[in-house]
Amino acid sequence: MAVLLLPSQNLSRLSRLRILLDSLIILATVMTLYYYMLSVPMIVTIRLTLLEKTLGLLFTTASLVSLFCLLFVAFQTVNVGIRRVITLLTLAMVIFQVGNMVIYRYLLHSTEAGLTTGPNPGLLGGLTLIAMAAQRMQHMLSQDAPLEHGPTVLLEETEVFAHWKTWLVSLLVLIFALLLVSLAIQPANVYTSARLQIIEIGGTSILIVLVLRQALTTHELNNMKRELREKNAQLDTLVASDPLTGVLNHRTFVTRLDEEVARAKAQQTPCSILFMDIDHFKAINDQYGHSMGDLTLCQVARRVASILRPEDCLGRWGGEEFIAILPGHDLHSSHKVAEMIRMQIAQQVVSSENNLHVTCSLGIATYPQTAASRDGLINAADQAMYKAKHLGRNQTHMATF
Ligand code: GH3
Ligand code: MG
Ligand code: MG
Repeated sequence: MAVLLLPSQNLSRLSRLRILLDSLIILATVMTLYYYMLSVPMIVTIRLTLLEKTLGLLFTTASLVSLFCLLFVAFQTVNVGIRRVITLLTLAMVIFQVGNMVIYRYLLHSTEAGLTTGPNPGLLGGLTLIAMAAQRMQHMLSQDAPLEHGPTVLLEETEVFAHWKTWLVSLLVLIFALLLVSLAIQPANVYTSARLQIIEIGGTSILIVLVLRQALTTHELNNMKRELREKNAQLDTLVASDPLTGVLNHRTFVTRLDEEVARAKAQQTPCSILFMDIDHFKAINDQYGHSMGDLTLCQVARRVASILRPEDCLGRWGGEEFIAILPGHDLHSSHKVAEMIRMQIAQQVVSSENNLHVTCSLGIATYPQTAASRDGLINAADQAMYKAKHLGRNQTHMATF
């Protein structure tokens, strides 16, 4: 639970759970080794009742778990003060644990029955260290140390942990193989079957946790893949669009136009281009400032986009010039669209504060009547737009062919 609840940035619940499983695997291995080497005499001895054995094992397990959690937090904590406190507590735990082992030994080899063997010989040392840890903690709190954020913990970032994980499974296999080999080459004694059981229980629980961990990792990997795909899509949109207005940028628009012209050629359908330029745009910048100019560009782009169909395509050619592809539209029908755009732009209020209106001039070119190539179409539409400017602005002009 302590490991799961560790404060840290950028750690999902799944990652925390995986770290917990990793910890369980390491813990189970340590416990298997501990039981194999030290606790077997206690399990096998007949002098202890089942309750005493169970309590003894539970106590050892709890001590190991606490010790492990303390060590884990100490490894992962970046805050030096906290790390010192945890080191003192860990040392206290170790001293208690060693004291317990001394009592075990004494118990197993003494003729007295029961567990009443006097105090833990590590008690004094352990308590002293706990007092030191408490004092250290009080000292940290009395200073204006930045403790209100809690200890900074960087679980995944620490090199130690990342390095360990790569070797974890191979190390486990090696440890269990060595235990089995050592059991096989020893002459059988009273402890053999208990040791075999310990290896079986330890190995099975580790296998179960490993399978869980694998499932979790796969799930996490899939999540990461999905996030990456979403980020890529966002990036593609960013690369393709004009940062101010959000419509296609020049480069992407040209690529789209190539595709649409090719499609029109293949399907023998018409395809029209609208070239649009805002009238006297410079005056808006000069009179109301550049940001008002930007706002105008955004509002015009949004309005034009709302008029176009989903299969149409709008791009910013440069400055205050926009360009649109209308697949399937001939000169006549594209003229209607252009007029609708022109009228709606003229009616739109850009800034109600200044009662600002803008108008635009549009030029139309159509495949195949006006031109058959991308550049031919763009040039023709551009020239038609200039013609509209010369004729007095706020009008649509069709390219002649
Ligand atoms: P015309 O009716 O003949 O088109 O006159 P105009 O003033 O619209 O055209 P001109 O080419 O003289 O001026 C275009 C101006 O657009 C000049 C430039 O400062 C401004 N401009 C270009 N890009 C941006 C932009 O991203 N934001 C703003 N605010 N202004 C821009
Ligand atoms: Mg211009
Ligand atoms: Mg202009």
